[in-house]
Amino acid sequence: MRVLETPKHSDGETLDPSDWTEFRQRAEQALDDAIRYVRDIRERPVWRANPEHLKAPAEAEPPDQPEPWEKIYGELQTKVLPYTYANAHPRAWGWVIGAGMAQGIVYETWAAALNANVFGADQSASYIEEQVVAWFSKKLGIGPGASGILVSGASMANIMGLAIARTAMLGESVLRDGLQALPNRAVLYCSSEAHNSLAKAVALLGFGRESLRAIPVDANYRMSTAALRAAIASDRQNGHVPICVVGNAGTVNTGAVDDLQELGAICRQERLWFHVDGAVGALLKLSPTLAAKVAGLEGADSVAFDMHKCMHITYDAGCLICRHPRQHRATFSIAAPYLDTHASGIASGPLFVDYGLETSRPFRGLKIWMAVREHGFAKFGRLLEQSVRQAAFLVELITKEPDLRVLAANLMIVCFQFAPVELADPAISALNRELLYRLHASGVAVPSYTELQGRFAIRVAIANHRTTGADLVLLVNEVVRTGREILRSSTVASF
Ligand SMILES: *Cc1c(COP(=O)(O)O)cnc(C)c1O
Repeated sequence: MRVLETPKHSDGETLDPSDWTEFRQRAEQALDDAIRYVRDIRERPVWRANPEHLKAPAEAEPPDQPEPWEKIYGELQTKVLPYTYANAHPRAWGWVIGAGMAQGIVYETWAAALNANVFGADQSASYIEEQVVAWFSKKLGIGPGASGILVSGASMANIMGLAIARTAMLGESVLRDGLQALPNRAVLYCSSEAHNSLAKAVALLGFGRESLRAIPVDANYRMSTAALRAAIASDRQNGHVPICVVGNAGTVNTGAVDDLQELGAICRQERLWFHVDGAVGALLKLSPTLAAKVAGLEGADSVAFDMHKCMHITYDAGCLICRHPRQHRATFSIAAPYLDTHASGIASGPLFVDYGLETSRPFRGLKIWMAVREHGFAKFGRLLEQSVRQAAFLVELITKEPDLRVLAANLMIVCFQFAPVELADPAISALNRELLYRLHASGVAVPSYTELQGRFAIRVAIANHRTTGADLVLLVNEVVRTGREILRSSTVASF
């Protein structure tokens, strides 16, 4: 037998550490520091403005040569850590952003070590993801036989849900010929409070934003089902083709939950696809006492939701579950000889690329699988109850303050204003904007903002398992103190 010689030039460089002992020390230090960061998060400001010199990286030279680790790690401490939005902080209540969990450090370490690409294939990562999706499918009441996939978040899941609705309602020919081959305009319905990822979705999917009808809401920000029925009838009369209704299980603005049972019934009568945006509220199903608030979600054809918000899985972790696996697959599956299922070998496993838009995909399932097993679904249900209870407590605190008023409150979201009697409306909005800026600058708490019926609102979303009642008392005191300070320091007329 001929023995091949290995030529010198066939070996080269690698990214592996040259000294594994030193690398281990570095890793242990980072792990230690990361654990301390989360443990002591309460001692940090929730936010601090990024200094100008850190905001303008354009003129910096791209590093072509290696830099000393100490320098890089030092800049993590001085340039990065102080100026993040510390959403692990107990008083981080902006937008709807989960607080994460310390255990995520361990889960993510393994995800990084494996560096799995979960496009599919016969690898344990594929089956862990299938397991995780099946658990949630069951918990949401969609049941066995549904399909599902982990995605970056509800925005992506919303786009995918509407894409499947398009296939299911307009026929698979739409995938080949596009919407331009159809004689009539296809239309979809959501409430005027729906998340803007749905408007993005209809634009991207070729429906055009005009085709997404924003149905008015009632005084509690829930879609008016009478207006929905009227809109469907009017569209049909005008020769349009209604295909889908999107229900909110918790709006981003106020946490409002549409009447999902009624929406489901309308969809069945009218033969429309029923998609639910459950980014905020779908997981209320994990709590025996809160599940009734999203009753009807289990009747959806597709549900978009997030585990990185109120379930605190480290970013990112979203999910789409679909009751119709065949339509789901038909929407995203395109045969390719380089990405195919084989009878044997590593390619004999599931193919997630057939169920979504991403090809390369991170191992999102691992952190979810480990977190659910470590804490149990019941605890996540209790934490949701805690957030909802705390939001109700915040409403109570606000109601007791003569200078504050609640504008809207549902689930874990509370929108309110500093509204002293001597001020009227445009002035109140201007004052509250200034108040919020000062609150942010103080680093004490980060609520976000929204506008409700033209009024600027301070908006608190308690997607946070570290929040305590005392944190909410502190918030209310700070808001009142800052509001009065602004009033004193400026003529009321300037607002
Ligand atoms: C946050 C949110 C989204 C978007 O979810 P991402 O996970 O950020 O992509 C969609 N809908 C609602 C109601 C939301 O609150």
